Amino acid sequence: MASIFTKIIQREIPADIVYEQDNIIVIRDINPQAKTHLLIIPKKEIPTLNDIVDDDSELMSDMFLAAKKVTKDLGIDEWYSLRLNVWEKWGQEVFHIHMHLLSDI
Ligand code: 5GP
Repeated sequence: MASIFTKIIQREIPADIVYEQDNIIVIRDINPQAKTHLLIIPKKEIPTLNDIVDDDSELMSDMFLAAKKVTKDLGIDEWYSLRLNVWEKWGQEVFHIHMHLLSDI
């Protein structure tokens, strides 16, 4: 079954899309924990960071480059934090890799 993020990527359910490129989408979190709370999501549905393979290295680095671009575009590039939860014990709820981008600006 497709993850909630795949459904957003496929426009089956709505989301506030901040940025999109061929392999990544950036959306606003539906339940923000900071003034700016974005989710950087690879379009490839990988359940957890433990499931990445060597071929995903460019995709993983593209997630950081997307963070750099989006924070620059939003003017928060000097004040933000990135977080990636792995498995339920550390708070992962959606099993489709995503990086939280949080800023109080
Ligand atoms: P996790 O706990 O897995 O690291 O983070 C999942 C995040 O996805 C949560 O912060 C949650 O608020 C967000 N989220 C869950 N469902 C949706 C949704 O349908 N739309 C959006 N925009 N965010 C969602």
